[in-house]
Amino acid sequence: MPPLRRSRLLAKRRVALLFYESSTRTRTSFELAAKSLGADTVLVSALSSSIEKGESLKDTGITLRSLGAECIILRHPNSGAPYLLARSTGLPILNAGDGTHEHPTQALLDLRTILFRLSARNRLSDAIAPLNSGVLRGVRIAIVGDILHSRVARSNALLLPRLGAQVIFCGPKELLPDNAAGIGPGVSVERTLEHALANADVVMMLRIQRERLAGLQLDLEDYTARYQLNPERLARHAPDVLVMHPGPMIRGLEITSEVADGPNSAIMDQVQHGTAIRMALLSRALQSRLANTSKEKQKRS
Ligand code: ASP
Repeated sequence: MPPLRRSRLLAKRRVALLFYESSTRTRTSFELAAKSLGADTVLVSALSSSIEKGESLKDTGITLRSLGAECIILRHPNSGAPYLLARSTGLPILNAGDGTHEHPTQALLDLRTILFRLSARNRLSDAIAPLNSGVLRGVRIAIVGDILHSRVARSNALLLPRLGAQVIFCGPKELLPDNAAGIGPGVSVERTLEHALANADVVMMLRIQRERLAGLQLDLEDYTARYQLNPERLARHAPDVLVMHPGPMIRGLEITSEVADGPNSAIMDQVQHGTAIRMALLSRALQSRLANTSKEKQKRS
């Protein structure tokens, strides 16, 4: 792990991480981001707290606020939970993934990875300059696998077309309904992986979210045969494509180790970009909170 560059920007500020679902990358990088800005962090996870005894999200949030938390990072299995927590605590809430709804910080770190990698390859002329709505014009991004249950797919499909990219969702009917393209402009559906790969600049592979299948039966052998990203498919249909995956990867299912660890892979870059994105969001959330609190104090005096 690279050494933390420490700043005092958020010294003495308290950040709570409230996790109702398991996480490796998102939790660790939020925590490292907060610590590298000098903030104090506390982790509350469902299995070791009063959540297990039945405490509501609202009560847990209010308790954390009373203990001095000024910002809460929340991961929750229910879509919309961050909005509820924001309303009941009045604190800035950073969404670390809510159900099948959104995972906005993942989409931002994916964007950062794409901009860095494609501009290094000169596929984009001026990507690191201030973002504008055309920065990804002409870039085709295939998102493959369990789109139905993926908050990562949803957040990326909302973000990337706003910068000019074309998003192609790819997967079988059970995991990708026909109407998925209706999520917004710049999104289309393609059932065949080979077609999705042809002309794609980037391919994001997704895990099948077993925990959300709710009884849906899938023929994994058939799925692997049709949708796995393996060296043969890569070489034949998209030898230069940038390969991404939000993790956790199920090696041998949606992606093989040769591809995950191969020269096309930007998967570890994604992890590294996560810390920078989360540092930026934490400073924004906490600094604007400070500004609002001092404005309120001035008004009162
Ligand atoms: N880590 C991502 C998420 O939390 C993707 C996944 O779990 O498959 O949504």
